[in-house]
Amino acid sequence: MATAKELEFAATFQRRWRNYAGARALSFITILVGIGLRGADFAAPAWTYRSLFVVGFLGLFLSRRFAQYKCPRCDTTPVNNGEGFLPSPVKCVVCNLAFRQ
Ligand SMILES: [Zn+2]
Repeated sequence: MATAKELEFAATFQRRWRNYAGARALSFITILVGIGLRGADFAAPAWTYRSLFVVGFLGLFLSRRFAQYKCPRCDTTPVNNGEGFLPSPVKCVVCNLAFRQ
């Protein structure tokens, strides 16, 4: 049985995870749009897709920090114990906090 504090930690982590996943997905879409512009038939100016690449990759690298994507209890970044591009960790590998109730 989870305590109220653990439920609060889990809710905090879920919020952080949503922010992290959203920022990552948005960055990825930005990069895809940049790739599309680069390969488009019409001549898109180079600065358009270059700036999209810069914004997209910055977003990918900074999303973890901006979303404070780490365990709310022990402050460690969760190891990918989920699957895929946007893994959703089940519990903290350090303090064993359940991220999902
Ligand atoms: Zn932890």
